[in-house]
Amino acid sequence: NKIITLARRPEQIPDEKDFTITSGPIPEIKQGQILIKTLFLSADPYMRERMDLSKSYMPEFKLNEMITGTLVGVVIESKSKQFSIGDTVYGFLGWQIYNVSDGTNISKVTNKSIPPQTALGVLGSPGITAYNGLLEIGKPKKGETIVISGAAGAVGTLVGQIAKIYGCKVIGIVGSDEKCKYLIDELGFDACINYKTSLNIKEALEKICTNGIDLYYDNVGNGLLNDIIELSNKKARIILCGQISQYNGSSPTINPKILGLMTKKSITMQGFMIHDFIGEKSERAIQQISLWIQQGQIQYRENVIEGIENAPKALIGLFTGQNIGKQLLKI
Ligand code: NDP
Repeated sequence: NKIITLARRPEQIPDEKDFTITSGPIPEIKQGQILIKTLFLSADPYMRERMDLSKSYMPEFKLNEMITGTLVGVVIESKSKQFSIGDTVYGFLGWQIYNVSDGTNISKVTNKSIPPQTALGVLGSPGITAYNGLLEIGKPKKGETIVISGAAGAVGTLVGQIAKIYGCKVIGIVGSDEKCKYLIDELGFDACINYKTSLNIKEALEKICTNGIDLYYDNVGNGLLNDIIELSNKKARIILCGQISQYNGSSPTINPKILGLMTKKSITMQGFMIHDFIGEKSERAIQQISLWIQQGQIQYRENVIEGIENAPKALIGLFTGQNIGKQLLKI
């Protein structure tokens, strides 16, 4: 077995030295348990906050202990009535090649028409987050203009495509020209701004958003919020999905002036957690996204890094912008 552990707590963007890969025997299973061989690990931004003390809504990773996260695997040994050898499962387990489970925290991947690792991406948390964050909180209407930060990531690519289905004008904010090209050429975004090379993002947005901004889906949590509010229309909605720009320690400058603007423009700003949508709303999201994929209305992309020894690279890459679409590690 090979196991990823946290060697030290990073100061800023994690470094490969913050992780250790240890070896051990393949675990043995008892009655009622199964042995799962990992196929794909999911690298997710929230994991960075778990590397610090008391920052995450989840317990912090302990030093020199295994990192946990979501993964997809195949059952290779079973002493359980619920699972058979060959079943594909996903769930919350350890970042290692072999996991033992008694069936809690895992589910079977039943949709065989689409690759199983989509349970970590387009048909998993990012899908549920994008669908419900946009539709339940943002309530987009035909003809409205939406700006999405972190637009080329797992969540952002879906938000943009769903907003297009709902008839919106969609503008992405991303960190490279390659990402912009993908969003416009492949996913049908109306426009895109590279925040790393644009000299004046506010001016660029003003030019593109000729009817103002009605919705802002914020994956990033940076100072762009000031400009967005200035350019927003009356009754605009701001969806606070995530603050990846802050997970490594920096904090944006939010101009207090925007509060007055929010009042005068009757703007709503709302955060949410995926857990707010457990049950029916999650299931509906997955069903609807599956249907859109079948109909060719939604496309998805995965950024796959291979080999357990590269697990740290997969996680670090989220903070250096290496991924287009869902960041995965294939074992
Ligand atoms: P992504 O696939 O979007 O990966 C991260 C991307 O964020 C990078 O590729 C990079 O793209 C961008 N990024 C990284 N650092 C910065 C920075 N300092 N400033 C601006 N952009 C940055 O991740 P996900 O789609 O999985 O998650 C997107 C957001 O949604 C995250 O904030 C996450 O925490 C949040 N989230 C919230 C959930 C909830 O329940 N509310 C559930 C799931 C996710 P670029 O090249 O464009 O900079």
